[in-house]
Amino acid sequence: MTKFTDLNLDPKVLKAVTDAGYETPTPIQAGAIPPALQGRDVLGIAQTGTGKTASFVLPMITLLGRGRARARMPRSLVLAPTRELAAQVAENFDQYTKYMKLTKALLIGGVSFKEQEQLIDRGVDVLIATPGRLLDHFERGKLLLTGVQIMVVDEADRMLDMGFIPDIERIFSLTPFTRQTLFFSATMAPEIERITNTFLSAPEKVEVARQATASERIEQHVVMFKGSRRDRAASEKRALLRALIDAEGDKLRNGIIFCNRKTDVDIVAKSLAKYGYDAAPIHGDLDQSKRNATLEDFREGRLKILVASDVAARGLDVPSVTHVFNFDVPSHAEDYVHRIGRTGRAGRDGKAIMICEPRDEKNFVDVERLIDKEIPRLENPLGTAPSDAPAAEEESAEKPKRSRTRKRKTDRPEAEAEAPAPRAEAKDEPKAAPKSSESRSRSGGRGRRDDDGKVVGLGDHLPSFIALSFAERMTG
Ligand code: AMP
Repeated sequence: MTKFTDLNLDPKVLKAVTDAGYETPTPIQAGAIPPALQGRDVLGIAQTGTGKTASFVLPMITLLGRGRARARMPRSLVLAPTRELAAQVAENFDQYTKYMKLTKALLIGGVSFKEQEQLIDRGVDVLIATPGRLLDHFERGKLLLTGVQIMVVDEADRMLDMGFIPDIERIFSLTPFTRQTLFFSATMAPEIERITNTFLSAPEKVEVARQATASERIEQHVVMFKGSRRDRAASEKRALLRALIDAEGDKLRNGIIFCNRKTDVDIVAKSLAKYGYDAAPIHGDLDQSKRNATLEDFREGRLKILVASDVAARGLDVPSVTHVFNFDVPSHAEDYVHRIGRTGRAGRDGKAIMICEPRDEKNFVDVERLIDKEIPRLENPLGTAPSDAPAAEEESAEKPKRSRTRKRKTDRPEAEAEAPAPRAEAKDEPKAAPKSSESRSRSGGRGRRDDDGKVVGLGDHLPSFIALSFAERMTG
């Protein structure tokens, strides 16, 4: 097995790695560090949680240790799709360069231009940036990219999702042709393939734990949920989430709850907090200082539950998350892998529990297809959701604490966003019907048989042939 000492890293880097408590390089590190140190281009196909950040930061700083920063001309550039991920890379950089004298500037939204410009003026070894912000600095004329010797593109597939590819192409063209490129992506979409063919030169391709297999260490479950009534579904779903959290007991040391919509991130966080859970939200609409403070609390163990949107959660480095809850099935199956990758990181076990509503069924099928396995179904810990009682209790438990106007304000967007159009729901129902016979009868639906075998929902005038079973019709 490869050891860090076999990798030819600068002794100061090695010391910092030892301090970080890493014993052996992860596969992406063992595969990417040697060619990167030889000055070769690297195409790393690895997702978050595999140790990929260190796989480019460690060789990069080893190489940079051999030269000097020059005013306004950074020697290396790391591009990341989100502020959080960029900040995360910057943190890793600080951690691994603690015994070296390398400087960095972080160019992301929410950090002042002026301060960063002063740093660039003095000369930095590493620029860590989101593409848009980097180009903003460039347009202001204060930055030259002609001194970039090493360029890293991190999470290229996410850049593609976020529409950053034209910016990346432009940035590539602003850097010297002779630069070394370290390029990372979790998947190789055709557009990513095109970029790598254009801008990388004979790269060493290092592929680790494909998406489909990366999640094997994580215990995964899904609860099929259908509200008793549409106007109660949202609060029943939050009750279900609380029950799922409670069921984990002490095993849940810290967790992230993912929601598809920002409005839900807020609603779920508020609702949990109201019920006495230690939870706070993080999403793109919160200002940067608030996001940083919440993240810091979570990382330091002062906050137990983080409620997050996908974008805000990119690049969160929280090594010891025990649980991930998917409040919704993500609409892009790949996000499921990213989300659950927050737990079970770097050799640790984790647990991921997802709630799937009938309207999520199509996305759910996509998720199972992507990971190529069936996610074990978990019984709803609240039991079935029969018509009235529990829902009514839950409603009244939530209602009195809000004024009428506040309730409107918070519930409306959710209701609008969540409640499917009646026709769409009717259309989705057959395929949305959960698999067990118990839940099938529970889900009801128009024109289907109830438990007595009668056809319900067609009014008084039931054509007699419909009441016959298929076999009866064939023979009779
Ligand atoms: P990343 O994939 O870069 O987001 O890294 C995932 C997590 O693994 C981070 O928390 C790193 O601190 C941690 N990590 C990176 N390399 C190693 C290693 N060789 N051994 C143990 N943990 C590591």
